[in-house]
Amino acid sequence: MGMVVRMRHNRSQTGQHRAHLALKAHSLVKCECGNMRVSHRACPECGRYNGKVAVDVAAKAQARAERKAKKAEQK
Ligand SMILES: [Zn+2]
Repeated sequence: MGMVVRMRHNRSQTGQHRAHLALKAHSLVKCECGNMRVSHRACPECGRYNGKVAVDVAAKAQARAERKAKKAEQK
């Protein structure tokens, strides 16, 4: 059973709603390593967040390479 629309929005209301749906660009900040990164996210280059290493970038890259190699092997 479908939903019953009791009160249809008129074009003005639809427009007023959609006026607030625009996407904003991510706010990029410069990491201490010099790379641009998304604010409040760990840096994809050095894996640091707030001055501390939060993500082991080297280990992640290696794991990714191993996964890729395994996938290529299966084909
Ligand atoms: Zn960085």
